[in-house]
Amino acid sequence: MRGIHRAKSTNRVVSDNRDPYRILLLTSIGLAGLCLIAAAYVWDITTPRQRDAITGSGAWSTPRIARRFDFPLLPSEQYGPYVQGISGELTSDTRYGVQNPAWGNQRNCFLDSDGNDVPFSQLFHSGVDLWALNSNGQVILGTAGSPIHAVADGVVTHVQDAGQDGYIIITKHRLQDGTERFIYSAFWHVDYVQVGAGDPVNLGQVVAQVYDQGGNSHLHWEMHTFSDGTLLFPPDTAGGRGTCNGRVAGVGYTWDDNPLRAHPDYYGYVDPIAFVSARIE
Ligand SMILES: [Zn+2]
Repeated sequence: MRGIHRAKSTNRVVSDNRDPYRILLLTSIGLAGLCLIAAAYVWDITTPRQRDAITGSGAWSTPRIARRFDFPLLPSEQYGPYVQGISGELTSDTRYGVQNPAWGNQRNCFLDSDGNDVPFSQLFHSGVDLWALNSNGQVILGTAGSPIHAVADGVVTHVQDAGQDGYIIITKHRLQDGTERFIYSAFWHVDYVQVGAGDPVNLGQVVAQVYDQGGNSHLHWEMHTFSDGTLLFPPDTAGGRGTCNGRVAGVGYTWDDNPLRAHPDYYGYVDPIAFVSARIE
C-alpha cells in the first residue's frame, strides 16, 4: 500500500483518511507553518527599520545603465547656480550653492534633538539652485516654466507633492562603474510633472517644469549617491529624523549633529555640476 509504485491520485487521499497518525502529523506541520507565518508578520510590523523606502530597491525595475549625463535645464549655459539672500558665514568647500538655510521661516527645520539651533557650520545645502542667468551671471525672468530634463536614463522612484514648494521628483540612475552603484537625481520646486514613480525615463526626457515661485523661481537639483548603497536618510540629520520639510526628508538643506560629519560628501551628496560635467560626451 505504501510502496513507491502506488498511484499518486486517489489512493493517497484514501490512505490519508485511514491513517489518524498521518492526519495528526500533517495538521501539526500545518499549524507550525501558520505560527511561523504569524511570527514573521509580527516581526515585520514591529521591527524598526531605516527609512529607506524611497530608494525603491526591489519596488521598481532596475534602471538600465546610465552611460551619459546632461544638465536638467537646457541649454545649460543659460542657467546657473545663484545664491539669493545670502547671509551668514560661507564655507564653500563643505557645501554646494550655500546660503543660510536658517534664514526666513525655515528655521524650525534646523533644530537638533534637544530643540536647539543647529550651528550654521553644521548645516549644508545638498544641491545647487539653478536660475536663468544672463551673460553677466545675473538672474533674469524666465526660470519659471523652464522644461526640466532627466539628467540620464533611470527610473523615477519618487514624485512628491511638497505643497508651496512645488513637487519633488527623485530618479534612480545605475552607474556603469560598479556592479550595484546608483546615483539619485533630485529635483525640487517643480510643477507639471510628466512622470510617476516607477516610470523609466530617458536622458533628456522632459519630466516637469520649474515651479512658478515668482522672483524665487528656481530648480533645486541634487545628485546623491550613498557610501553603503542604502543610506538615504542618515541618522542624526534632518533627513534621518524626518524633521525638515516634513515630506521628503533628506532632500535639500540638511545638517548633522556631528561637525565632523556635517559635510555633503560624507553622506554621498556630490556636486551636481561637477558630476554631470565629467559625464557629458
Ligand atoms: Zn536649493
